[in-house]
Amino acid sequence: MLFRVVAETLSKIEAITSRTAITELLANLFRKTDPEVIDKVVYLIQGKLWPDWRGLPELGVGEKLLIKAIAKATGVRETEVESLYKKLGDLGKVAEALKSRRAGGGGLARFLSGATNALTVNRVYETLKRVALAVGEGSRDLKISLISGLLVDAEPIEARYIVRFVEGRGRIGVGDATIMDALAIAYGGGTAARPVIERAYNIRADLGEVARILVKEGLRALEKLTPEVGVPIRPMLAERLNDPREILAKVGGKGMVEYKYDGERAQIHKKGDEVIIYSRRLENITHQYPDVVEAVRNRIKSKEAIIEGEIVAVDPETREMKPFQELMHRKRKHDIHEAIKEYPVTVFLFDALYNEGEDLTTKPLPERRKTLEMIVEPDETIQLSQYIVTDDPEELEKFFLEAIENGAEGVMVKAIHKDSIYRAGARGWLWIKYKRDYKSEMIDTVDLVVIGAFAGRGRRAGTYGALLMAAYDPDADLFRSVCKVGSGFTDKDLAELPEILKPYIRQSKPRNVDSLMKPDVWVEPALVAEIIGAELTLSPMHTCCRDEVRKGAGISIRFPRFIRWRDDKGPTDATTTKELLEMYKSQLKKISE
Ligand code: ATP
Repeated sequence: MLFRVVAETLSKIEAITSRTAITELLANLFRKTDPEVIDKVVYLIQGKLWPDWRGLPELGVGEKLLIKAIAKATGVRETEVESLYKKLGDLGKVAEALKSRRAGGGGLARFLSGATNALTVNRVYETLKRVALAVGEGSRDLKISLISGLLVDAEPIEARYIVRFVEGRGRIGVGDATIMDALAIAYGGGTAARPVIERAYNIRADLGEVARILVKEGLRALEKLTPEVGVPIRPMLAERLNDPREILAKVGGKGMVEYKYDGERAQIHKKGDEVIIYSRRLENITHQYPDVVEAVRNRIKSKEAIIEGEIVAVDPETREMKPFQELMHRKRKHDIHEAIKEYPVTVFLFDALYNEGEDLTTKPLPERRKTLEMIVEPDETIQLSQYIVTDDPEELEKFFLEAIENGAEGVMVKAIHKDSIYRAGARGWLWIKYKRDYKSEMIDTVDLVVIGAFAGRGRRAGTYGALLMAAYDPDADLFRSVCKVGSGFTDKDLAELPEILKPYIRQSKPRNVDSLMKPDVWVEPALVAEIIGAELTLSPMHTCCRDEVRKGAGISIRFPRFIRWRDDKGPTDATTTKELLEMYKSQLKKISE
């Protein structure tokens, strides 16, 4: 198949804006396309050589190099190419002009422009591929000679698109949706076939491949298409609402209410020992998470599976969740092994899309969850998402507050009825996100009193891992709980804890303590510590200002950190509950999105 057919279509498309007309032109092109190269033609229309998720190099050859290649192919000096570029502002047009200058335009262009061998789609594609993949010593010269080789044999109009493509400007502004419409018209018997093509693309994010199957095997084959391990599935997305009652009604009365983890979405593909992780945007992010890869290898029992979860940064000591920003440390490639130790993560799995040859995307959520629970053996790095099933808005709200306090962003409410399939690539009401819409930033530290302690685990075994902290309520003369703090302690602080707390340890709750949470040991209110956090928040677990802002919730601190002991303060000098309420109110502001 001649590349000229593609170039001419691109040129016609460039001149029009009507979507219907563009679709017709594309459908015509696809009809004329040799089935053997349909995938390549689709990629070229998309302005790429392969789907982005393959993680292969992009073409994007710099201007300088291109100018050299054009000069070489057309036999003019580089300075002449440059001055023409200044005039025309588009290297594609420059190449076209130089080619047709030799030819003087007209139908005999190929002959007169010096082109001898008509370019085929295959030759153009394969040559561009070699250009993209050429690396290392000598690759610069190789790229120049490959490109100029193509340009020598190109007609003017072909030269325009080859150059633009190499420059990384191959996108002609035709979206995937239009390509799918055109495929439906050309090979699916009309636009009615579009949903079949779209579904296929959603479960296999490779439009060239989908087109190849359609053209070579027919629409039926596409209908039966299942996910393939290694090829990303386009993620299912959620709608958003802020009213628990309305949310439950939308999912059919009863739903699965899950922590909405604040991290990075991960679609994990496993085939034997091979593991690939794709991001929300289907980029290959495997190299950032060698620890997750290892955990998947050892803890997912299936040979072949596609599962989804959220990767969250956690505290190296307490494994408590940290804010999303902490994941940034994983983006730097050079020190990844250091980063694993310093910035550990946990992946919280929430879905299974494929397991041992079975396509689960068409199965209801409870069935997918069951499979997920069957194939995972959780450990520190790999866990299942936390959830409850409820039809009670109040219970939903309580779980929501608890989720936030534990470092989540809110909850995801998911339908569990018989039609609760995994709708790849679609945003809909089967999943609804419920995020907090107010945030009260914490700009100042507070001084809180220790009222309890939790035994340490792992490296903290033998000492305490976290303290339960309270604010003072002078009206009732009570210490009311605010948060559990496990971060910010130095090794020395931790080692000293048992000794510092010892004189105050009590086996039962002291009379002047008000707490719903039960620590491993109670502590007589005496010790004051300075605490900072990301923000003040509402929590069903704590008793500070309970019911004053919202029924069933008290004021708490999100991501609290120990700063230092305040030996200069007695327990009644600590921050009062009233002060916390004022701080909460004055710092309250609408989160602008
Ligand atoms: P969207 O992904 O809906 O376009 P967004 O990128 O702004 O929006 P959010 O609004 O924060 O993201 O919500 C969706 C994201 O929440 C998901 O893409 C996923 O990464 C994350 N997430 C966290 N926990 C869950 C969970 N339990 N179930 C599904 N998604 C979850």
